[in-house]
Amino acid sequence: MFIPPNHPRRTSLLIREKLVEGFKKGLVAPEGLIAHGRGECFDYLIGESTQPFAVKAIEAAVAGLLLAKHPVISVNGNTAALVPGEIVELARELNAKIEVNLFYRTREREEAIAKWLREHGAQEVLGVGEDASATIPELFSERRRVSPRGILIADVVLVPLEDGDRTEALRKMGKTVIAIDLNPLSRTARAASITIVDNVVRAIPLMIEKTREFKLKPKSYLEEILRNYDNNKILQEALTHINERLKQLSNSNLVIQF
Ligand code: ATP
Repeated sequence: MFIPPNHPRRTSLLIREKLVEGFKKGLVAPEGLIAHGRGECFDYLIGESTQPFAVKAIEAAVAGLLLAKHPVISVNGNTAALVPGEIVELARELNAKIEVNLFYRTREREEAIAKWLREHGAQEVLGVGEDASATIPELFSERRRVSPRGILIADVVLVPLEDGDRTEALRKMGKTVIAIDLNPLSRTARAASITIVDNVVRAIPLMIEKTREFKLKPKSYLEEILRNYDNNKILQEALTHINERLKQLSNSNLVIQF
């Protein structure tokens, strides 16, 4: 689809195109397209740019992932469609494992995602087929299957775009869960240890940058960032930002003149 370079919604439309392409390739579930719509709505409210509360959460997330013994990046269809190369690069920088983990799990889709990630440079992709032989307690159906070499033994898990039940279950297993979710009110956002309220297409590249920067810092610097981090405050800041923005907009001239 041709989108003119000066189209005011160009970036958003290009992201949509990536998801539609991902859907056609068998990476994205139909439900994933709807989930993206919910995210887009919150991105509109946030202002479609990375805000200070997201930067703070990204710094804490990177500190946590660099300090982790077994960091794992959990990948679903939408994440694979939107930022495949960036996920591989982040995993490489962090020395983290990549695991496919799907809400709507089918063998075809997990294999398609693993293949897609390998085409983008991934050496190893966990959680495919028999590799997902362990189970997360308290979760039912296919969603509880994880890799014994990945999420099962992970101490820190990055879950870009997760659902509330899984986030809760992973927290109950004692793991540090880092979520990327545009909706600061979702159960995922509220159940995670660290919530990055930002679009995955902006958050992951910034995480790569911060990882390169933080790798050069002493361990005590990273520990200090984590100690001072308060996720409730970050979620409050996100809501305050949306609130202030809406207040300002509701007092301005909204009509487009011709
Ligand atoms: P929960 O179970 O956590 O309450 P939910 O039912 O609201 O979640 P899901 O349908 O499981 O939501 O997943 C969609 C979530 O992912 C939404 O909260 C949405 O804001 C978020 N989301 C969708 N696309 C993106 C994106 N590109 N970047 C960041 N977050 C996104």
